[in-house]
Amino acid sequence: MKSNLLQLVVVIVLLVSPAGLVFGIEPLQEKLDDFKVIFLGTGTPVSGPKQFGASILVEVGGRSYVFDCGRGCGIRLQQVYGVSRFHRADTLFFTHLHSDHTVGTPEMYLNGWTQGRAKPFRVFGPIRTKEMMQHMRLAFAPDIDIRRIEEFALATPERMPGAEVVAHDIVEGKVLEEGGVTITAFLVDHQHVKPAYGFRVDYQGRSVVISGDTTYSENLIKYAQGADLLIHEVMSPALIRALHRRFSQQDQVNFIVGIHTTVPDVVRVFNKVKPKLAVYYHTNNSKETSQELLDETAKGYKGRVAVSHDMMQININREVVIAATP
Ligand SMILES: [Zn+2]
Repeated sequence: MKSNLLQLVVVIVLLVSPAGLVFGIEPLQEKLDDFKVIFLGTGTPVSGPKQFGASILVEVGGRSYVFDCGRGCGIRLQQVYGVSRFHRADTLFFTHLHSDHTVGTPEMYLNGWTQGRAKPFRVFGPIRTKEMMQHMRLAFAPDIDIRRIEEFALATPERMPGAEVVAHDIVEGKVLEEGGVTITAFLVDHQHVKPAYGFRVDYQGRSVVISGDTTYSENLIKYAQGADLLIHEVMSPALIRALHRRFSQQDQVNFIVGIHTTVPDVVRVFNKVKPKLAVYYHTNNSKETSQELLDETAKGYKGRVAVSHDMMQININREVVIAATP
């Protein structure tokens, strides 16, 4: 009897908990002057449940844009939006097509549709993005057909366009301009991964730059000038130590480190951009490793720096403020 009562209480609490409060952040409001960044995934290809794969949500001008969709991206979107608003996440940009930046995509694409998106899923990314998304649509054709035929209440005719994908292979430059939001792609240097892009989002004189995966990039520095928030990948000392533990051959470690950015090089970037806030992602972020990373950075850069966590939210207003840290 007691446990039944407890179960009932748990159910009621779950039912009345507003979406987005799982990690204590406010539910997203769709205010036109809002400019928010939420880290959906901050980890590496071998991250665990605390850090999902690379993925960043930018809520700006009442619209929703996702940059990369690594492992668990759909789960985090559900945490941010809840069931009723999941369909808002309808536009995805790929920095490059390494799988740790893309494997969450089917969930975002298909859950968005079954949870209410009535227009096609929009995807922008480097050459072969279109090809990948065409194959993804084909791969899920059995599911889409089943729902079309047998789950009419879910997949009503008005909603069927939501099962489709409109994908674009992009080049450097402006890739999207709508509702006062400008999204620009710029080439970065992920060595043999060509092309690989970073993105800049501008809105009402405010901006965020996302590095994607890259080594030190002068082009990123050029495109990041004046940015309020710079989100940059990093090969942290702890990550390099982990690679040494995992691979016996020095060559393998050198190769992986060589296609990313080490702390001394990120410091050079930060000093040339001087954003209001610089944030690391795509690295491991335990309390100790984050502090070590910040200490190493502080040796060469005196500006504000943070290490991101999944679901961390940053508001870009006159000031750039970390609004929630789980
Ligand atoms: Zn990569």
